[in-house]
Amino acid sequence: MTEAQPVAGVPRRLLWSRAEVVSLRDDTPRVRSLTLAVADWPGHLAGQHVDVRLTAEDGYQAQRSYSIASPPEAPLLELTVETISDGEVSPYLTGELRPGDIFELRGPIGGYFVWSERQPGPLVLIGGGSGVVPLMAMLRHRAIAGPTQPALLVYSSRNWDEIIYRDELERLAAADPSLRIVHTLTRAQPQGWQGFRRRVDKAMLEELGVPALASPNLFICGPTPMVETAAQASVELGIDAARIKTERFGPSGG
Ligand SMILES: Cc1cc2nc3c(=O)[nH]c(=O)nc-3n(C[C@H](O)[C@H](O)[C@H](O)COP(=O)(O)OP(=O)(O)OC[C@H]3O[C@@H](n4cnc5c(N)ncnc54)[C@H](O)[C@@H]3O)c2cc1C
Repeated sequence: MTEAQPVAGVPRRLLWSRAEVVSLRDDTPRVRSLTLAVADWPGHLAGQHVDVRLTAEDGYQAQRSYSIASPPEAPLLELTVETISDGEVSPYLTGELRPGDIFELRGPIGGYFVWSERQPGPLVLIGGGSGVVPLMAMLRHRAIAGPTQPALLVYSSRNWDEIIYRDELERLAAADPSLRIVHTLTRAQPQGWQGFRRRVDKAMLEELGVPALASPNLFICGPTPMVETAAQASVELGIDAARIKTERFGPSGG
C-alpha cells in the first residue's frame, strides 16, 4: 500500500503550527494585514481559512477563524484582520503584533467555500467589510492563473476609507477587462459619488446583470445579515442555490 500524498488545501492532520510575523500592512484605519511564515505550511485553496490561537501567560486561550487573503501561489500566508474594538483577539492581532512575533495557527480549513480558476462558469463575488478577504484570495489567484471567465466583485463598505485593498482592486480591474468591481458605500460617500449607497439587495444584483449570467458561481461573505440578504436575493433572481456558497463572519451588520 502506498502512503497518501499531501494535497494542497487538504491537511492530513490539523495540528497547531508556529506562525512568525514577517511584515504588517495597514489597509484601512481599522484593518491590518499580517504576512506570516508558517512552518510546514501544506498549501491552500483560495477561500479557505485558518484558526488562530492565542495563549495568555496564565494559560487562558482564545481561538478565532481568519480567512486566508493570499493566493495559493504565494510563498507566505497573508491574513487581513479588522479591529473589533471590544473584541478579545482582533485588537491583539492588529495592534500588538510586531515583525518577529510568533503565535499559533492551524489550517487550512474548509473545503466548501473554495474556488479555483479551473472551475467553469462566471465568478460572482459579493463581500461586505472584511468579508472581502477570502474573495481577494480568489481574485489574486485568478489574476495569477490567467482569467478564462468573467468575474464581478460587488463590495459593500461603510465609506470610501474603509474599502480594504482599494488600490490593489483598482489595479486588478485596470489590468483585466473581464473583471468588474462595483463598490457600494452604505454610510458615507465622497463628494460626487455616482455609485451605489445602500446595502447589497436584489435590485442591485439585477441591475448588475447577475441573473443574465450563464451558470455563475457565487461566493458571498461578510456579516451574517448581509450574507443572508444577498443569498436570498440571488435565489429569488433565479440563481441555482447549489451554485451559491456563503461564509458568515460575525453577528453585526456592516
Ligand atoms: C470562517 C471565518 C473567517 C473569518 N475571517 C475573518 C477575516 O478574514 N478577517 C476578520 O477580520 N475577521 C474574520 N472572521 C471573524 C473573526 O473570526 C472574529 O470573529 C473577529 O475577529 C472578532 O473576534 P474578537 O475576538 O476580536 O471579538 P469577540 O471578542 O469575539 O467579540 C467582541 C464583540 O464583537 C462582536 N463581533 C464578533 N465578531 C464580529 C465581526 N466579525 N463583526 C462585527 N462584530 C463582531 C461580538 O458579538 C462581540 O459583541 C472570520 C470568521 C469566520 C467564522
